[in-house]
Amino acid sequence: MTIDTKGMLPESARAADHFGIAYGLGVDSTAVLVELVRRQLRPDFILFADVGSEKEGTYQFLPVIQEFLAAAGFPPVTVVRYEPVRSPYTTIEGNMTMNATLPGAVFNRGSCTVKWKIAPQEKWVRQHRHLYPGRIVKAIGFDAGEGYRRLRANDKVHAAANDRYVYWYPLQDWGWDRNACKAAIRNAGLPVPPKSACFFCANMKPNEVMDLSADERGRIVRMEMRAEPYNRKVEGLWRRRRVHDGRPGSVTEYMLRHGIPFTAPDDLEPMPLNPACAKATQGFTFRPPHRRVSLTEMVAAQRRYEDAGHRQLIQGLLAL
Ligand code: SF4
Repeated sequence: MTIDTKGMLPESARAADHFGIAYGLGVDSTAVLVELVRRQLRPDFILFADVGSEKEGTYQFLPVIQEFLAAAGFPPVTVVRYEPVRSPYTTIEGNMTMNATLPGAVFNRGSCTVKWKIAPQEKWVRQHRHLYPGRIVKAIGFDAGEGYRRLRANDKVHAAANDRYVYWYPLQDWGWDRNACKAAIRNAGLPVPPKSACFFCANMKPNEVMDLSADERGRIVRMEMRAEPYNRKVEGLWRRRRVHDGRPGSVTEYMLRHGIPFTAPDDLEPMPLNPACAKATQGFTFRPPHRRVSLTEMVAAQRRYEDAGHRQLIQGLLAL
């Protein structure tokens, strides 16, 4: 069976039996969907792996794209999730915070993506083998400026998967960069969704920290504080201090330095350590921090100052 009626797919993919989309609910993969609708190349399925820790705006875009796909006669987005067998967490944030660790991306490993995004999609495909037997073309929305991501994914993740898939990177074939993707989405009459990523992703840029809510920033602080005693090679989510601009390796330290507000970890919905995690059962084996003062001490000092300042303000108002 040939699925490519319009000659869009690369030669290697044309003999595949089925066509699926790995959808991230972000700018790039939304642009892929929009263009496929325009060219009327209908996939068999569209999968979104929900890690439970995307930004709020990303989740708000799901009903928008579902409506667009329905109007085009395309299949809806199917949401898949990693299902823990015994662990108490249900999100990637819980995985990190409850196990006092940081995402694999921090250590230049794709383990967070493999466990929370790729594996749930492959499981779904295995469970639906009766509907989609044979080889599958899987379209992935890395834009034309992200060749490094494609290579990295090929090398470390996808190549290791299995030969049931033929991977297709349409945006790179079309030469679309991020701006071209945004233009295509607007031309289709849709709002541009936020960049899709976990709100604590190691690849986040400093300006993206400001786009997060105070609670999301507080959850980043909690994650970094929990993991700090075990970090031997990194200072935090941003790995190590950068020489050329002095950006710290910890997002918490960056926020403290720039006075960026965040919800105090104690005021967040509790997320206790995983009792099955060796770190939790053995207690903290604290190693000297990478800085003279640990993140926990820095955050506590900032809170003390805030509390003192707040008290002064209240007392001043009462004295009026
Ligand atoms: S967005 Fe970042 S932290 Fe989340 S799974 Fe992907 S690489 Fe890992």
